[in-house]
Amino acid sequence: MTERLSPATIAVAAGRPAQEPDAPLNAPVTLASVFVAGGEREYGRYANPTWEAFETVLGELEGGRALAYASGMAAVSTVLDLVAPGATVVAPQHAYLGTLHLLATKERRGEVTVRQVDLTDTAATVAACDDAALVWLESPTNPMLEVADLPAIIEGAHAAGARVVVDNTFATPILQQPLDLGADVVVHSATKLLSGHADVLLGAIVTRDPEIYQAVDEQRRMKGAIAGPMEAWLATRGMRTLHLRVDYAQRSAAFLAEQLASHPEVRSVRFPGYGTMVAIQFAGGSAAADKLTGATSIWVHATSLGGVESTFERRRRWSSEPSTVPDDLVRLSVGVEDMHDLWADLRQALDSLGS
Ligand SMILES: *Cc1c(COP(=O)(O)O)cnc(C)c1O
Repeated sequence: MTERLSPATIAVAAGRPAQEPDAPLNAPVTLASVFVAGGEREYGRYANPTWEAFETVLGELEGGRALAYASGMAAVSTVLDLVAPGATVVAPQHAYLGTLHLLATKERRGEVTVRQVDLTDTAATVAACDDAALVWLESPTNPMLEVADLPAIIEGAHAAGARVVVDNTFATPILQQPLDLGADVVVHSATKLLSGHADVLLGAIVTRDPEIYQAVDEQRRMKGAIAGPMEAWLATRGMRTLHLRVDYAQRSAAFLAEQLASHPEVRSVRFPGYGTMVAIQFAGGSAAADKLTGATSIWVHATSLGGVESTFERRRRWSSEPSTVPDDLVRLSVGVEDMHDLWADLRQALDSLGS
């Protein structure tokens, strides 16, 4: 590959139309189901110029070719559908719930065998790759924020003959570029940090492997889990500031993790040292966790993550969350409000717990 521009430059400058007099600076929303015959696009389920702008930005950031999907789960299920019947998939014990749910459903139907691993145990994860067709990685994991040694696991998985997928939603290509670390495929919920404003559902697959690209493109055409042009446009617009938002929120997350660690109502803090996500547990257990999420004014009690708005939730309020996730674990998604205002709001809520 030729040397890439820095992520900040790619985020702003990639995917723009050619600089010609009167051309718009950025790709407009193209609402079209049909294109005039004889070109590359032909039909709106095959291609769309607004998707292409999004795919160019994300592809250049990750160092591969990207394809947009209707949601993160459309991207996840497309990749899992590439696995041959009867094959073994290695997956993390903790990961995005939808991914784990889909894998469990496929296993119950006899389509795949799932081998779950603790990603922080590199030797055990590599050992589990033996005879596997696919190794699904997520790092940091949702919601435990465990970090995997990606280069070592990817190398071990390849030595065992398995393909490797990394869900890069939490780190974003600003902080981690899994294809450069050897991964075969990256998936994203662009709903989260890439779009960044809690107003879009969108997903993506990125790969350098032409065979995988062709296979997933074919699936997109035939299954039709395509992105809406408006969503692709909003996500591209969001990515223009991805580096600024990640950088700013990451600093706030580090500050908040430090403050939280010294508050008496907080029993433990998880922060991987990078990224915009923090998870905490409470001296007063799950009752304190529930009380906290109702006691703030800036922090919003909501699921999902990665927007400019700071949000948090007690993950075990979802009955399908694995029981190995502590009952009192609250996951915080740090937005781009002022960090001192965020801490003041959290601190008054923590002070009010009085356990
Ligand atoms: C949200 C999320 C998904 C699923 O994405 P949707 O856009 O909600 O379909 C997949 N992986 C991770 C890590 C997520 O956070």
